[in-house]
Amino acid sequence: MASGGRTISLMLLVFIASALIMIFLSAQSLFTAYELYYQGLTEQALYYFIYGIIGLALAAYTVLQFRKRTSLLAMKELEIITVTECQKCDFKNIRKFVKGDFVMKEADDCPKCKKPILITAIYQKPEAKKKTS
Ligand SMILES: [Zn+2]
Repeated sequence: MASGGRTISLMLLVFIASALIMIFLSAQSLFTAYELYYQGLTEQALYYFIYGIIGLALAAYTVLQFRKRTSLLAMKELEIITVTECQKCDFKNIRKFVKGDFVMKEADDCPKCKKPILITAIYQKPEAKKKTS
């Protein structure tokens, strides 16, 4: 999980590069098709035209797929952590955020002293984030 950020940015670069190359090649073949068409070479022009359209469609598909994947990854990365602390003893628990959690809310009973424990902090899990130093 620690290298998650780096993997995503590398994947992003590969995806952007391949999409750009596809768009560039498609644009080039469409331009060639246009030139051939005006030279009267309609059959060759048609081949280049089809090639260009397929390339553009593939590029669009790649971008769409990547957007789907990144939104999924972004959702995964947003892991919210709730910290609960007992006010009587030193019991401290870290668990996943549950809808309805808020700081200073009384949570479940302390497993040690059976007194209600308080939510003391809610934050985004830092593991998935890139280290900044
Ligand atoms: Zn306790």
